[in-house]
Amino acid sequence: MNDTNALADRFEEVKATIPAHVKLIAVSKKRTVQEIQALYDLGHRRFGESYPQELRDKQPLLPADIEWHFIGNLQANKAKYVAPVADLVHTIDGIKILDELNKRAVAADRELGVLLQVHIAKEEAKHGLSPMELEELIHTWDPIRWPAITPRGLMGMATNTDDKELISAEFHGLKMLFRTICELPLPFKRSFTELSMGMSGDAQLAFAQGSTMVRIGTAIFGERQR
Ligand SMILES: *Cc1c(COP(=O)(O)O)cnc(C)c1O
Repeated sequence: MNDTNALADRFEEVKATIPAHVKLIAVSKKRTVQEIQALYDLGHRRFGESYPQELRDKQPLLPADIEWHFIGNLQANKAKYVAPVADLVHTIDGIKILDELNKRAVAADRELGVLLQVHIAKEEAKHGLSPMELEELIHTWDPIRWPAITPRGLMGMATNTDDKELISAEFHGLKMLFRTICELPLPFKRSFTELSMGMSGDAQLAFAQGSTMVRIGTAIFGERQR
């Protein structure tokens, strides 16, 4: 069986496990332009990248109607690579990156959706806002300061563990935060609809907790080589 058939089979298998209302982000970090094009040719349009320069380099070589998601840790000095091409940035963790993304999006005459990343895992190394920092950012959200930015929801990564109860509890916690925010009379209430949670290893647990966006790399493209 050739590579394209193998990709098509894995893609179909993954799609069959995803509830109809959940958006699939194919995580294409470290994949070649050819691999991404092959999935595009199978009809897929939503891709996720983790490294700013890699997104900048690959985007012009691929079809213009791809919806690009930026899912990696983002430093303010790399916002210039992401703001001109991304549709949704999943990893907002403070006002500094919002200031910089807004500035770059305004300069590029674009609007950028963002998700606020919440630290739900046990691992210290994972990024994101604490629930308290999230609450503060939500309440101080300033549409005049960030006119090019639309908050569209929350993102979280569960602990990398085999303990399904722990993963479910972390996703559940994120869902409850999301619900609480959705109840508030906020200026961006109507656009705040997405809950990005779940990857290849924990997607089913995320769906059970109400995920609306799942970020899957390995299960579609195979193990990452590099
Ligand atoms: C790499 C990555 C994924 C995809 O991981 P897989 O295990 O390959 O599905 C999802 N989310 C984030 C933030 C990632 O960095």
